[in-house]
Amino acid sequence: MNDNFCVFFDAGHGGLDKLGRYVTAGKSFKHSKGTFHGGGWFYEGVWNRTITQEVITKLNALSIPNILISHEYLDTKLSYRVDKANWYYKNFKKGIFISNHANASVSHRGRGFEVFTSRGPTKADSIAELHWNNVNELLGKDGTITMRMDTRDGDKDREANFYVLKNTAMPAILVEHLFFDNYEDALLLMDDEIIDKFSEAQVRTIIEYMNTL
Ligand SMILES: [Zn+2]
Repeated sequence: MNDNFCVFFDAGHGGLDKLGRYVTAGKSFKHSKGTFHGGGWFYEGVWNRTITQEVITKLNALSIPNILISHEYLDTKLSYRVDKANWYYKNFKKGIFISNHANASVSHRGRGFEVFTSRGPTKADSIAELHWNNVNELLGKDGTITMRMDTRDGDKDREANFYVLKNTAMPAILVEHLFFDNYEDALLLMDDEIIDKFSEAQVRTIIEYMNTL
């Protein structure tokens, strides 16, 4: 394994403050049934922290260096997140930035997994491709989850001008794990086995990318 390599994690939005109040109200959804994070509410930022922590636990067991850029619960500015990642990255030669999210749609009918990179061909495209394939292997091909893709530019990732993708010094992907405002997808997101597989896929992607360096 590569000593000069580090994974930078960004759990999107904020979490629960010290009084248990969710700090990013705009990134939540109240389902008419089910419990989720309490009373039918699904808090995206809380979920993002859950998946990110699972991946970090697995990487630590493998002694793969990683730094958590997002705050325990504050919804810190994107510019601060990027600055932090880029500042620490000066101590390494190689790295990946992974921003973990769950999706939402206006109709609340959107479903499925997708991975984003910045626009145009970059090193992140190959990481996104590895990750799409790993998630497909563990959760997609048996029909557990829906796999979304945009193949118009020859690969499966979608491209967008997301701030963290455009401004990080290292290759960056943003993962949208299912739609938290869709009841069926939200139930899948709360399933520990599915969380384990999403995190396992991320670890495999990181190791596969490290092996190409
Ligand atoms: Zn998000």
